[in-house]
Amino acid sequence: MSDALMPTYARAELAFERGQGPYLFDVEGRRYLDFAAGIAVNSLGHAHPHLVAALSGQAAKLWHCSNLYRIPEGERLAERLCAASFAERVFFCNSGAEAMECSFKAVRRHHDARGAPERYRIVTLTGAFHGRTLATLSAAANPKHLAGFTPAVDGFDQVAFDNMNELRAAITPETAAVLIEPVQGEGGIRVASPEYLKALRQVCDEFGLLLVFDEVQCGVGRTGRFFAYESAGAAPDVMAVAKGLGGGFPVGACLTTSAVGDCMTGGSHGSTFGGNPLAMAVANAVLDVVLADGFLPRVAEIAGLLRARLEALVARHPDVLTEVRGAGLLLGLRCKVANRDVLDAVRAEGLLAVTAGDNVLRLAPPLIIDDSHVEEAVDILDRVCGGLAGSN
Ligand SMILES: *Cc1c(COP(=O)(O)O)cnc(C)c1O
Repeated sequence: MSDALMPTYARAELAFERGQGPYLFDVEGRRYLDFAAGIAVNSLGHAHPHLVAALSGQAAKLWHCSNLYRIPEGERLAERLCAASFAERVFFCNSGAEAMECSFKAVRRHHDARGAPERYRIVTLTGAFHGRTLATLSAAANPKHLAGFTPAVDGFDQVAFDNMNELRAAITPETAAVLIEPVQGEGGIRVASPEYLKALRQVCDEFGLLLVFDEVQCGVGRTGRFFAYESAGAAPDVMAVAKGLGGGFPVGACLTTSAVGDCMTGGSHGSTFGGNPLAMAVANAVLDVVLADGFLPRVAEIAGLLRARLEALVARHPDVLTEVRGAGLLLGLRCKVANRDVLDAVRAEGLLAVTAGDNVLRLAPPLIIDDSHVEEAVDILDRVCGGLAGSN
């Protein structure tokens, strides 16, 4: 590893040269089935022809012109995101953390515009992950991630996941919003139940709070719905989106109702790179595919197959795995051995996955996988679990 890089990541000794669909090829030509997908980013796999065409077509025309001017592809993307969700206003940025930052600012601004600037505190949940900026770290309040970076940004109060009593008790006259990932990703692929999300919506309405969803990881088709919240029947006021939206091109978005979004008046927020023509062209191309007739039902179907195969896998290897969790193609295998050992072992066999909190092995394959990829992944997991059980 080059000393020229800050040593922030624990990287595997692997470098990839190219990708094709759900496969990656390393510099030695070895093939890997990619069930990490850049951590739920390569939503349509690698080198998808429609995305390649959109990117190269736009690259030859215009990359960047700044938000000093109208960007028609961005207007079109915003309108499509609104048409397909609760949202009425969109702000484009370049990452999940930035989408969260815009959400925090919109929450404060909303209450400020209504004469209640003292309402600025956001209630967050244990096990959350919202990004690596100071405010998003402070929101998630993971002591490991905050170590050495204190003092935390003020304005966040954390309560236990799935505990309405604790949440209600944390609400004060200063509370502005409640923030939740409908499916916790980094925290261990924990799904918020529809009842819980509906109860949060009710509490927010009762106290005049905004409900903020972080769908940076679980949004844009990953759960088999365009957005994860759809299956709960409880819509937010503000939502952060990123990872899968660009299919591998960096892009993020903060989606809001008009009541919230219209508080973000001229000069109140901005981003040099946010919403640039290249990112907008690629994200529109992602939506062309994800919102096409039949695509999301197909994701739900293949997700059902993967889940059934994983349930059977857990039943065959009770010494190694304890349960399957998650939704759609954002699945977690809770491990009895160290999740890192399972990760390393499947990688040696040609399958890429990601770890998550709570000793979970996370599977977030591209949304374009078919039955053969499910069988290939589960075969590798089966072999590896057999070997790990023997070595216990
Ligand atoms: C990845 C992630 C983020 C942060 O996104 P970045 O693009 O890394 O800033 C925020 N929230 C959730 C739920 C995520 O999974």
